[in-house]
Amino acid sequence: MSVLFDLIYGGSNAVAGLTEGAVNAAIAKHGADKEIAFPDTAYFFPTIYAATGVKVKTLGDLVPCVGVLKSLITNQEELGQALNAGLATAVGAEIIEGLKWVESADPYAGETGIGFVPDPVIRSLGVPLVTGDIPGVAVVLGKADEPGDVCKVVKDYQSKGLLTFLVGEVIDQCANGGVKMGLEYRVVPLGHDVTSVIHVVTVAIRAALIFGNVQPGNLAGLLEYTKNRVPAFVNTFGAIDAVVVSAGAGAIALGFPVVVDIDLGENQVPGALESVCDHNETVKKSLELREIKIKVTELPIPVAFAAAFEGEIIRKADMHNECWSSKNPTAELVVMKELNEVEDHKVTIVGPDLDEAKDLALVTYVEVAGKKMQVDFESVIERKFHAWFNYMEGVMHTGQRNQVRVRVSDAAFEAGLRLKDFAEVLYVMVKNEFDAVVDKCQVTIITDPVEAGKFRDEIAMPRYTQRDDRLASMTDESVDRYYTCILCQSFAPAHCCVVTPERLGLCGAVSWLDAKATNELDPNGPCQPIIKEGCTDERTGRFESVDKMVAAATHGAVENVTLYSILEDPMTSCGCFECICGIEPMSNGVIVVNREFKGMTPSGMTFGELASCTGGGVQTPGYMGHGRHFIASRKFVSAEGGIKRIVWMPKELKDDVGERLNKTAQELYGIENFVDYIADETITTDCEELLNWLTEKGHPVFEMEPLM
Ligand code: SF4
Ligand code: ZN
Repeated sequence: MSVLFDLIYGGSNAVAGLTEGAVNAAIAKHGADKEIAFPDTAYFFPTIYAATGVKVKTLGDLVPCVGVLKSLITNQEELGQALNAGLATAVGAEIIEGLKWVESADPYAGETGIGFVPDPVIRSLGVPLVTGDIPGVAVVLGKADEPGDVCKVVKDYQSKGLLTFLVGEVIDQCANGGVKMGLEYRVVPLGHDVTSVIHVVTVAIRAALIFGNVQPGNLAGLLEYTKNRVPAFVNTFGAIDAVVVSAGAGAIALGFPVVVDIDLGENQVPGALESVCDHNETVKKSLELREIKIKVTELPIPVAFAAAFEGEIIRKADMHNECWSSKNPTAELVVMKELNEVEDHKVTIVGPDLDEAKDLALVTYVEVAGKKMQVDFESVIERKFHAWFNYMEGVMHTGQRNQVRVRVSDAAFEAGLRLKDFAEVLYVMVKNEFDAVVDKCQVTIITDPVEAGKFRDEIAMPRYTQRDDRLASMTDESVDRYYTCILCQSFAPAHCCVVTPERLGLCGAVSWLDAKATNELDPNGPCQPIIKEGCTDERTGRFESVDKMVAAATHGAVENVTLYSILEDPMTSCGCFECICGIEPMSNGVIVVNREFKGMTPSGMTFGELASCTGGGVQTPGYMGHGRHFIASRKFVSAEGGIKRIVWMPKELKDDVGERLNKTAQELYGIENFVDYIADETITTDCEELLNWLTEKGHPVFEMEPLM
């Protein structure tokens, strides 16, 4: 048998033996009825569940799984069989890792690795992956002979925006080499044991279940999904043993190419398993194998500029400058001008630079002009400042409009970063991302506190007010068109959002104005206008033109959709929704749960479990994914009576949307302080207790018609 097959089967058989032993030992110690689960997932042991449909809930459930695992290892010298053995290794790794949660509630505490990735994190990755903000997923495994080499490779992926998962000694090598780690830096250490690689595998597998509507047990569908839709690949560093090779075979079975840094000679499998011994070529080859294209923005500034730095936090001790609205006037403003009023690439700086004062005022004023520019796009461009400033390494930005905080690190200052670089970033990015509507762009930065205050009060504030008035007057009735958004189809092929002024996309990132701008920037792109025609039911928001466009956009998968009902043909969900709303039968109301909430809800399900009730572009009456902002909308489940149905929300969400919710309840029903009628986890998470509490409060839901 060839060396490769020898290694694969050797590894698979070894893992099978270890798994069987570990399961038997665990049963001997805890009994077969002992419950077992990964934290914060609705997908049990995801690999086993997706591949076979089996829901592992107890140690005893693992026994037949070990049998299936062993049957996958045929020891035949044939590639397909060898890949099956690789899948067996994945199943074994999942079981071995899962058993760690029997021994401890938090087995990864104290380890520089996060272990299992919870469902909500995967959902939050949906939008950055579909927009290409995260262009791919790298798995870096092993121990580099030269630690500097792996650091360089990982930093390169980081600067290109990829999400990198680390397994093994490379974690310490990268940590010692100064690689910034954490989900916010897009470099995630999983664990030191090679079996911890399963935690990135189950991310891909759960993506298929969450977004792809792949049915549990449909192994072929699962493998097709991961191969075609999850842009992942593997790099191994250092010597590889049989277990690593068989795990690699598992990766290949899922469609993820493996690049090793030792010479495999004739054992290479072109396109799937390749040797790259020169680490300067690793990144290039890996990206080529997965056909990942990187959009580079060449910026003449002295610090790195990449999406990977978006989550970077700059602490006071490392801070050189701060521009903060609590200390000095700040404002961010984009204004549309006539073509002859703007001088392209003109930069004006009024006031001290970063080397002249520590605390600064900061006005960032961008004037744009273009034949196709519209006033409505001002705020769409302006909202991007936040991301662009954060992309600069050593710059942290929070807030918007007149409430802004910007910090510049000592390191960025030492590297030479000054205000003109901020202006350059804005100029280049506006011209890059809005080239279809912006022909000319000029940037003014004001740090003089008196001038900045004057600008804020006399120019910026009136403009914000004007915009808010326009937004408030913009209702679903006042416009002549809605928009489709099919960005998420790369993960959820049958999903289409319908975006209206009063109902933003369920990811929370696409408002009606955003969709309108997207359509203008890219007329054949993901957002297409739906001219409002043929309203057949006003209550539920049913339009012939909406049905027609959604049917076309989903290739017939969804034929009827309403805009305002959770029960009758509700809008579909891809999986990356910010919140989920579900009916609460006992009270006749609905509960709303946000992605960040980790606890239990009165439905007896966590966010993750509720979320798993819908998704993948499927309509599930009674459950609906939506954006945070939609909760206070007059159109929120308006077919079923509107926000008056809400009986429970997590406290944080309630506090966040409370003010707007109260306002809507006041306007629609004349109810004061409606939020006080809504329960949260500090009140109860039990459905009977909830009913009692609501009754005591006299929640308006009791005056409403039964939901079903
Ligand atoms: Fe995805 Fe809908 Fe958001 Fe578009 S609006 S990015 S389809 S969730
Ligand atoms: Zn989505």
